[in-house]
Amino acid sequence: MPRILDGATIAAAIKQEVGEEVKLLAGRGVRPGLAAVLVGSVPASQIYVRNKVKICGEVGIYSDLITRPETATTAELLDLVASLNARDEIDGILVQLPLPKQVDVKAVLDAILPAKDVDGLHPLNAGLLQAGRPGLAPCTPAGIIEILLRSGIAIAGQHAVVVGRSDLVGKPAAMLLLHQNATVTICHSKTQNLGEITRQADILVAAIGRPGFITAEMVKPGATLIDVGINRIDTRAEFDRFFAGNAKREATFAKRGSTLVGDIDPKAFEVAGAYTPVPGGVGLLTTAMLMSNTVRAAKMRREISA
Ligand code: NAP
Repeated sequence: MPRILDGATIAAAIKQEVGEEVKLLAGRGVRPGLAAVLVGSVPASQIYVRNKVKICGEVGIYSDLITRPETATTAELLDLVASLNARDEIDGILVQLPLPKQVDVKAVLDAILPAKDVDGLHPLNAGLLQAGRPGLAPCTPAGIIEILLRSGIAIAGQHAVVVGRSDLVGKPAAMLLLHQNATVTICHSKTQNLGEITRQADILVAAIGRPGFITAEMVKPGATLIDVGINRIDTRAEFDRFFAGNAKREATFAKRGSTLVGDIDPKAFEVAGAYTPVPGGVGLLTTAMLMSNTVRAAKMRREISA
C-alpha cells in the first residue's frame, strides 16, 4: 500500500513550531506581522486570504487584511506597497494573486521590499535561492521540501523530476531539490517524451495546472509523488474519469457539484511508494510556510539569529 504523506499533520507541526518561535520573540518585545493585500472579489482569493489571516491569529502573528476594489490601479497599489514597506510592525507583505488585469503585477511584486517578500517572488529572493544563500523562498516549494524531509524520504542522490517551470512553483521547487542534492530534471510544455522522463523519477513533482495529467503509466513503481495541482472539476465525465466508484468523493460531488483533483491521476497513486493527496497535501503546507517565512522575515530584519 502506498504511504499517504498527510499535509495536515505536517502543517500542524510547523504551525506549532512557528507558534513557539512567536512566543520566544514576544519575550524580546517582537511580534511578527503580516499584511495581506486582497484586490477585487475573486471568491477563491477571498477564501485563501481569510484563511491566512485566521492562521496568523492561531500562531500569534499580527495581521492586517487590506482590501482594495477591483478597479484599483497599479499606481494605487504601488502607493499601498510603499506604505507597508515603511511600517515597522509589518514584517511580511503578501499580495494575493491574481490581480485585476489592468494592474502591472510584476511592478507591484517587485516594489515589495525583498526583506518583507514572504512569498519569495522578488527577483532578489529568486537570485538568493539560486545562489543557495539565506533569503525568503516561495512557500509552496518550501512546503514540498518540508513534506519530504519530515516524512523521512531520501532526497540526496535521488532523481527528482519537476513538471512545470513557473516562478511560483516549478523553478524554485527544482532549485530547493537541487540544494538537497537531488539530481533534478525540469520538464515543461515543450518537453518531448515526457512519460519517458517522468518514469525515471524517484521523486515526481507535478505543478502543471491540468487535472490528472500525470497518469499511472508515467510513474515509476514505488516513486514518491508530490501533487501540487489544485483543479476543480464539475462535470460528470471528469468525475467518472478520476473518481468512479469512490463513495466519499461521490458524496462531496453530489453536495457541492464539484470536487478537487490534482495534476496527478489518482490511479497513479496506486503504483506510488508515497504520495501527497489532493486536497490535504501540499496546499496545507503553503499557508504554514507563509507563517514560517513571516517569522523568518521578522528575525532577519532585526538580525535575530536564534
Ligand atoms: P503555471 O504558472 O500555469 O505553470 C504551469 C507549468 O506547467 C508551466 O511551466 C507549463 O509549461 C507546464 N505545463 C503546462 N502544460 C504542460 C504539458 N502539457 N506538459 C508539460 N508541462 C506543462 O502554474 P503554477 O502557478 O506553477 O501552478 C501549477 C499548479 O499548482 C496549478 O494547478 C495551481 O493551482 C497549483 N498551485 C498549488 C499551490 C498549492 O498551495 N498547493 C500553490 C500554487 C499553485 P510552460 O512553461 O512551457 O508553459
